[in-house]
Parts: sequence; C-alpha cells; structure tokens
Amino acid sequence: MQLLQCNNLSKTYPNGTQALHDVNFTVEEGEFLVIIGLSGSGKSTLLRCINQLHPVSSGELYFEQQQLTAMAGKELRQQRSRIGMIFQQFNLIPRKTVLTNVLAGALAVTPVWKSLLGLYSEAQKKQALDYLKIVGLEHKAYVRADNLSGGQQQRVAIARALMQNPKILLADEPVASLDPSTSHSVMKYLQKINQELGVTVICNLHFLSLVRTYASRVIALKGGRIVYQGAPDDIDEQW
Ligand code: ADP
Ligand code: ADP
Repeated sequence: MQLLQCNNLSKTYPNGTQALHDVNFTVEEGEFLVIIGLSGSGKSTLLRCINQLHPVSSGELYFEQQQLTAMAGKELRQQRSRIGMIFQQFNLIPRKTVLTNVLAGALAVTPVWKSLLGLYSEAQKKQALDYLKIVGLEHKAYVRADNLSGGQQQRVAIARALMQNPKILLADEPVASLDPSTSHSVMKYLQKINQELGVTVICNLHFLSLVRTYASRVIALKGGRIVYQGAPDDIDEQW
C-alpha cells in the first residue's frame, strides 16, 4: 500500500534559499528508503517538510491518501503523530532517566498537562519498557540519559519515537555523529523495527556503504533535486 506521496514539492526558506525543487516520489508501506546527498542537498529540509515541521512552499504531500498539506489543527496533529522522527543529535533530556525520555514520546498522544505531571499510565510504562527491550536497553531504563554512549542515546531516541506508534519513522542523519561500528549497530536497530514491527523508514545518510547494506530503495538529492531513484545496487558513484 502507498503510504506517502510527494507531488512537485518545493521549499524556499524566508531568506530566499530554495532547498527543494519539484521533488516527486512515493513510498510504499514497509520500505526502508534511504535519501542520500551531500551536506546542503536538501535531505533535512525534505524530512522536515514531510512531518510538517517546515511548511512547504508549493506542491502536495499525501500521507495514507490524505493530503497533509491541506490539513490544520487537530486533524493535522493526529496525522503527524503517526510520523516519528529522530535526529543526528538525539535530542534527549540529559538529566532525566532513559525511561522518562522514552515516555516523553507519548506526548503526541497524551494531553500536555498529564505529561507535565508525569501522569503516564501503567500501560504506557510497560510499552516504554517493551520498546527499550526492542532496542536492547531495558537494563538502562533507570539510568540518566547523559550517562549513555552516543549509540545508546540514539537507540533511546528510536524507542521514544516508537511510543507514537508511528506508521513511518523519519531518521535525519541518525549516525552522522557516531563511529562506523556504532553506526552499524544503530542502523541494525532501525532495520529491526522496519522488519519486525513493520515501521516504514526514511533515513537520510551521506555514506554509500551504509546505503547498500540497509536500503531497500534509494533516492539521491543534489541541489534540492532528485538525481537518482531506484535500487541501491545501481546507484552511480557520481551521485
Ligand atoms: P542537508 O540536510 O542535505 O544537509 P538541508 O536541507 O539542511 O540539507 O539544507 C538545504 C539547503 O537549505 C542548504 O542550502 C541550507 O543552507 C538551506 N537551509 C536549511 N535550513 C534553512 C533555514 N532554516 N533557513 C534558510 N536556509 C536553510
Ligand atoms: P543539519 O545538517 O542537521 O540540517 P545544519 O547545521 O545544517 O544541520 O542546520 C541546523 C539548523 O539551522 C537547522 O534548523 C536548519 O534548518 C538551520 N539552517 C541551516 N542552514 C541555514 C541557513 N543557511 N540559514 C538559516 N538557517 C539554516
């Protein structure tokens, strides 16, 4: 089933920088799509447009056949809650426990006043511990987040995103600040949630080696335009 459709998506920032030019692609449920491109090619902008962190300048975005770019208010919040995101810099709350950080992912589905008071249900705590188990960090649940290594912190961020019960997970250069072996470990967990939980993944990367190992399909961006779309094996070294 088609999960996401981008039609003629363009994005110009208020300062005049055109970061995306007429981007067209679709994503099928279950894919592990990698977006590759040099720094500044528009990868981050594309993910931020998909989850509506940034408004698009023109074009349409459909998520589960519904037009995100025409939604507002509660309807948009509901749809967005099915789109999880992780970042290069993990963005955990450093002085809080790992479990609290994972529970924070339930924010999108919990009223703000409840989460401010720490009023998570037992079911949510159990869910958070289950997701920590999936990323191999159940034993770190009560450790402060800033005591974890970078790779472990990114795995916590994955568990936090899973609390939204996302259909799709957007990963913006999730391994760019990690060494090669830790990068593989984090990518393997992304692969695991893709294969075992059926979460569709769109992952920004700038290493071709990781692309060939993990992507089911790849899109290459250059100067905000798609210059390649297809199987990872056929990608030209010149992208
Ligand atoms: P990538 O993720 O591939 O490094 P980005 O999407 O971050 O690329 O950036 C694409 C282009 O848009 C770059 O020229 C960048 O400088 C510019 N850009 C990104 N964010 C902003 C912003 N908030 N305001 C203005 N220009 C931006
Ligand atoms: P990343 O590569 O992870 O996008 P950057 O350092 O490029 O990180 O950007 C960090 C932040 O600055 C982002 O919010 C991005 O949108 C913004 N940004 C990037 N380039 C520009 C720019 N040329 N003008 C204004 N903001 C920018």
